[in-house]
Amino acid sequence: MIVRPEPDRDSRPWWDAVRRHELTVQRCDACGRLRFPARAVCNACRSREASWTPVSGRGRVYSWIVNHQRFAPSMTEPLTILAVRLDEGDDLLMYGNLTEPAELCEGLPVEAVFTDHDGETLVNWRPLPG
Ligand SMILES: [Zn+2]
Repeated sequence: MIVRPEPDRDSRPWWDAVRRHELTVQRCDACGRLRFPARAVCNACRSREASWTPVSGRGRVYSWIVNHQRFAPSMTEPLTILAVRLDEGDDLLMYGNLTEPAELCEGLPVEAVFTDHDGETLVNWRPLPG
């Protein structure tokens, strides 16, 4: 069993970009502020006009959890789920699984990887070398 993403009006363009292996955030058309997760209104200026813009796919570990619950028979190892602050802004937080073992600490540089599985594409994270 796989838990499938359920895009809504605001997040559907993000999921469409992820399917193309592009990482994007919203940019306010009025004041230029970046925002994520997707929402209809700019926190800074209240404009409802926004566009989707690519980001580098790099960030730093903000926090994480290690899940030991086996949600599916295919899960053989504990699953580490990261909260990542994108390099483009401290208030741009994305979540995803850690794809390879790492000595985790707050601020560890990571990069996004796109994981295609069973017809879905998810954003996960791996440590940057060095
Ligand atoms: Zn704005």
